[in-house]
Amino acid sequence: MFQVAAREFAENEIRPHVETMDREGVFNHELLGKFFEQGFMGLAVPEAYGGSGGTFFMATLAIEEFSRVDASAGVVVDVQNTLANNALERWGSEAQKQKYLPRLVRDTVGAYALSEAGSGSDAFSLAARGRQDGDHFVLNGRKLWITNAKEAGLFIVFANVSPELGHKGITAFIVERDTPGFSVGKKEDKLGIRASSTCELILEDCRLPRANVLGEVGKGYKLAMETLNEGRIGIGAQMLGVARGALEHAIAYAKERKQFGKPIAEFQAIQFQLARLATDVEAARLMVYNAARLKDARLPFLKEAAMVKYFCSQVAERVASECLEVYGGYGFTKDYPAEKYLRDSKIGKIYEGTSFMQLQTIAKSILG
Ligand SMILES: Cc1cc2nc3c(=O)[nH]c(=O)nc-3n(C[C@H](O)[C@H](O)[C@H](O)COP(=O)(O)OP(=O)(O)OC[C@H]3O[C@@H](n4cnc5c(N)ncnc54)[C@H](O)[C@@H]3O)c2cc1C
Repeated sequence: MFQVAAREFAENEIRPHVETMDREGVFNHELLGKFFEQGFMGLAVPEAYGGSGGTFFMATLAIEEFSRVDASAGVVVDVQNTLANNALERWGSEAQKQKYLPRLVRDTVGAYALSEAGSGSDAFSLAARGRQDGDHFVLNGRKLWITNAKEAGLFIVFANVSPELGHKGITAFIVERDTPGFSVGKKEDKLGIRASSTCELILEDCRLPRANVLGEVGKGYKLAMETLNEGRIGIGAQMLGVARGALEHAIAYAKERKQFGKPIAEFQAIQFQLARLATDVEAARLMVYNAARLKDARLPFLKEAAMVKYFCSQVAERVASECLEVYGGYGFTKDYPAEKYLRDSKIGKIYEGTSFMQLQTIAKSILG
């Protein structure tokens, strides 16, 4: 029932804005408001904090259904649920949860700021610093590639407070947008997920009370690793949605387009191509659902999450690319949706750990 509701919302509310949002590279503000109104921004947050009290699995269903229509809409909901809410719920003190979770559920977009210009795959080589000053920390540095940053009111920002300890100095901070010394910088002009904002963050003597440390001082690396493991299932769901969306459009087109006097769907080559892609999508779906259920059942899912992200991003790119070919020349134009699915699919292999990083995790899991 929830999946059907998410699909209907995506069709009725997201679909009409997709083309404009992609062209202009801006997320529709009213649509964002509807995400909050309908409870999509706090799916797994307990009811005690104003959330929907659902499961992580429900969040992945919403990400999948939204991404089937628009991968940017999918990632907005993904970052909110699987990274921002998740990190606060898992690592926040009771006071932090009471203060921030109701806001994240009601009207405040969250963002998750780990990456920097010089720190991507090598995620713990951060240059951002936090200096202790009495019962405050003073943050300095820059963050790059931060999803949702343009719209966000709350940021989880990682900085190293004891560089001499290496990654054991990394600490997570809760930063409100209007904190003096904090600002959102340049927005990237991207190939895909164009409506999802990706911006730089600037920290210049950004002074935060100790109460804004999320989790323990020096435990930020653990927080980041754990949250991103869960986040990867969300990205898998996003890529699954992209693949499904591309395939459904291609199937409809193949039944309509006539060559040699009959619909191209009647040629065995096209039938077999679509059948292969549908099989890939089914395998991707089962992997996403399995990993999400493992997480909800509190069973280990590190290897499965890495496999999900690795596999689903491959499937999304392959399905989107071959579906574009089903359209022939029309697929190469912006008059049809195929090219956008291909552009949107590309990010799956990059963020929240590139495909090589996922393979590294899988290899460690199987080789010990
Ligand atoms: C649209 C977008 C949104 C993003 N959103 C966020 C966000 O919200 N928050 C956030 O913190 N970050 C975000 N990121 C950052 C993203 O997580 C990083 O871009 C990603 O982790 C890769 O880092 P990098 O870009 O520095 O590439 P690099 O780490 O420089 O990698 C370059 C290439 O080298 C390869 N490589 C690197 N190390 C190894 C190795 N040891 N072995 C084999 N190959 C290797 C990589 O696989 C890749 O192919 C976002 C990025 C994009 C593009």
